[in-house]
Amino acid sequence: MTPTIHIKETYTNPNSFHIYFSYAGKKKYTNLPTELQKLVHLKAEKDEFVGKDKDLIHIERISENGIEHFVVVGLGEESSHTLKVIRSQMSKAVQLARKVKALEIVIHINDHAKNVQSIVEGVCMGDYSFDTFKGKESRKKHPHIQNVYLVTRETEEIKKAVARGINSASALLLARDMVNTPASHLHPEILVEHARKIGNKSQGAVTITVLDEMECNKLGMGAFLGVAQGSERKPAFIILHYKGSGTHKFAFVGKSITFDSGGLSLKPSEGMMDMKIDMAGGAAVLGVFDYLATQKPHVSAFSDVYGVLPACENMPSGKAIKPGDIVTALNGKTIEVLNTDAEGRLALADALVYAETELKADYIVDIATLTGACMVALGQDLAGLFSNDDQFEKKYRSYAHYTGDDYWRMPLHEEYLSQMKSSIADLKNVGGRYGGAIKAAVFLKEFVKKAKWMHIDIAGPAHTDKGGASGWGVLSIIYFLEQIIKV
Ligand SMILES: [Zn+2]
Repeated sequence: MTPTIHIKETYTNPNSFHIYFSYAGKKKYTNLPTELQKLVHLKAEKDEFVGKDKDLIHIERISENGIEHFVVVGLGEESSHTLKVIRSQMSKAVQLARKVKALEIVIHINDHAKNVQSIVEGVCMGDYSFDTFKGKESRKKHPHIQNVYLVTRETEEIKKAVARGINSASALLLARDMVNTPASHLHPEILVEHARKIGNKSQGAVTITVLDEMECNKLGMGAFLGVAQGSERKPAFIILHYKGSGTHKFAFVGKSITFDSGGLSLKPSEGMMDMKIDMAGGAAVLGVFDYLATQKPHVSAFSDVYGVLPACENMPSGKAIKPGDIVTALNGKTIEVLNTDAEGRLALADALVYAETELKADYIVDIATLTGACMVALGQDLAGLFSNDDQFEKKYRSYAHYTGDDYWRMPLHEEYLSQMKSSIADLKNVGGRYGGAIKAAVFLKEFVKKAKWMHIDIAGPAHTDKGGASGWGVLSIIYFLEQIIKV
């Protein structure tokens, strides 16, 4: 649930939590009530507030009517500030509001009308916490923000930006919720339900197709089904579709292993603890389609936008795939499975071939919590991105930058493919100890023919130890598809 957003030219209430913006060096507190300006100045001097990113000033005014909070949010240099800074600073200010149990916040927009969508996104992100499984008491202790007042002139543009911001934030938070939900409550069947819900609320704008085990088998998805065969739960291959007006076809493929035990190559308990998140790629895809379903944006670059989720569990059992088994992917390539914990690339292999040959996508992005190696290389802030097309990557980079979906481009070093060759099949699914993220990418490339393609390994940023799921990828792909900001 996102808070209710109101647009008001003026708003007063003695118990409010007020938020103002300030750029670096300007000491622009002129929007504050005059009696507070001096206080803010003093506090700013004391805290060495310079309005840089990450700076916040917080002042409380206590009266018999209650406690009023004033927060000045630093946005960095005026010339260089990005939507990402606004979003993250807003989020921080709202977290502070929740800490002091404010139920409403008042945001003084002033000259930030053009940033309203990001402001709304930041508010919703800051207000988010995963409390589906929390008891009543705990919920009462940490109440959510109920109402947000944007103090500004109500224009058509502002109204539209608010609506877009709510839709994109809801999409992001839906993805976070799905990733945070334990595997007992989120398995392939539930992903299908989520997809169908998105289809229903779109009123025809998003259509859903689900291929069951038999249909996948008939098509020849031996790699995906090889992963799924150890689980009691049936796999589901989910396809979402949205129409645009362009000439190209775009497919967004998300790794959707709803629980990854490692299979017979069982993970140690430490490594298995947060493996409910192994469907974060699929959750990002569903998040994007949730936005398409509610916002119904005009997508001018693509004639068709597809989402593809090869959803299953990776479990050990008497039926499970064994190390040394050979599977045949949808494009006829055979893969010797030497480690059943390198399962994501198997499921993705079939999904990539499906996207290009069946859906005829000529632009494909896959997003996956794929390798621990990528996290070792880049940490938890950055995704690793691999691409066979510089222009595609460059275009996406600007949107990723503006939305805070940060990544580092990694090399698609083809020479490593020789280490992924099997002596008894075309490929094997692991290739030695070093360069694991690159080898996985090079492996996946064997399942893409001509399409312009990006593979994004989000093993690091999909999840933070402190905040749970991040929803990485939802906003950047939404902005990329809609291209509503000039970059
Ligand atoms: Zn695995």
